[in-house]
Formats: sequence, structure tokens, C-alpha cells
Amino acid sequence: MLRLPINKTLTLMILTVLIIGGLFAAAPLWGPFLTSEEMAFATLPMIGVAIAAPAFAGLCLLVRCQRCRYRLFWYAVTKRSHRDSIEWFLTAHQCPECGHSTV
Ligand SMILES: [Zn+2]
Repeated sequence: MLRLPINKTLTLMILTVLIIGGLFAAAPLWGPFLTSEEMAFATLPMIGVAIAAPAFAGLCLLVRCQRCRYRLFWYAVTKRSHRDSIEWFLTAHQCPECGHSTV
């Protein structure tokens, strides 16, 4: 998993932040059981989007091929079909732009 020629530590850190933001944004699904309605349907989702949006932008801008600086996460979400973009990002090991490979 995550074998692309990228900065893996940075990528995993931003991915973690994105997932945390996503959990907050999904508060309407789990919040009503744990907290007040206002928190679940307004406050937490806003916090979630405020966390997830910059994290997503960071992935698009900062996850680059270590050789040619090609934006690999951006490539995954824009150039691959929606169905396999994340799967491609997690399993691919070769930069589609310059062919740089980790294996
Ligand atoms: Zn490359």
C-alpha cells in the first residue's frame, strides 16, 4: 500500500487529517446518538469541512512524484475514473508522467 514515489510520511499525515475531518463532516450519521442535535447537524460538520477541505487541497498540491514533481494525488482524483482513483493511488508504484518507480 502506498508505493508511489512520494513523501509517504507527509501523505499519511494529511490522509489522517482528511479522515478525521471526514468523520466530523459525517456527524449527522453518528452525532445524534452522542451529542446534541445542534452539534451533530451544524457545528461538527462545519468543523469537519474546515479540516477536510484544506487537507484535501494539501494532498492535491503536495503529493508529488519525487523525481518530476508530477501531482500524483491530483492525477488520481482527476484523471482516473472515480471508481478506481483511490485504489490506484494506494496500490500504484509508478509515476504515470515520468515512469519513476519504487520497485
Ligand atoms: Zn514522475
